[in-house]
Amino acid sequence: MRGSLSVLTLALSSLTVACPQTGCTGNGPGRAGFDGQLPSDSALAVLRHEMVRRQITARGVRDTAVLRAMREVPRHLFVPEASPTAAYGDHPLPISHGQTISQPYIVAFMAEAAEIDPMDRALEIGTGSGYGAAVLAELAAEVYTIEIVPELADRARRALERTGYDNVHVLTGDGWLGWPEHAPFDAIVVTAAPPEVPPALVEQLAVGGIMVVPVGRVLQDLRIVRKTARGIVEETAIPVRFVPMVRQPRDTTR
Ligand code: SAH
Repeated sequence: MRGSLSVLTLALSSLTVACPQTGCTGNGPGRAGFDGQLPSDSALAVLRHEMVRRQITARGVRDTAVLRAMREVPRHLFVPEASPTAAYGDHPLPISHGQTISQPYIVAFMAEAAEIDPMDRALEIGTGSGYGAAVLAELAAEVYTIEIVPELADRARRALERTGYDNVHVLTGDGWLGWPEHAPFDAIVVTAAPPEVPPALVEQLAVGGIMVVPVGRVLQDLRIVRKTARGIVEETAIPVRFVPMVRQPRDTTR
């Protein structure tokens, strides 16, 4: 149990713009579109290094592969509406269809908790922008990700293609059911909150695998579910706030 009041505050500090960088334009994450010129690649790399140092290692994430992934993935390309400063800010950001891309720290925390190895197959529920899938793609061999909103799934597919993540497979459909054709998964990361741990996902977890899932209605607990040879072991990590997992009949467009 790593929960503490400061973590609670961080996890819940949803739409406050910290504006920590010099040159911050003051444009919040709710800004309609970024039409300015992108900084150079090296300036963007500096933003990412600073993001990792101030927001992620400072809060205790230590897994070197996760930190490397967070420095690698061009988060700004998954949220083209936001200014680069907002994209690397210490907060979640709205994408479209009333959905949000998680705060960088939460993405890193979940990836670390999932203990992903390079040969692993990972499943993500809630593709959203595709950013979380890209982070997982830096850590695992293959990533399967499911998004229920077709427009978001299409947009994420394009963003992942543009950024070269060819080990990510996006399914348009209901993640509550998982993706049995590609099970078992060594890691499952759920980024929309169900009211309870989805039984199909427990089923599709490999023995030795870990699922990280926010459970609850408005405020949720992040649960870490391990499937061991002797059964399921569940632990509660930190309080978080994700959009609710919605249910819909399954569509099998890939
Ligand atoms: N991981 C994303 C953020 C997820 S936001 C990123 O990195 O950008 C949560 C996403 O879960 C939303 O896009 C929402 O549409 C999706 N979602 C909600 N219920 C779902 C379900 N039953 N199956 C699949 N996706 C779902």
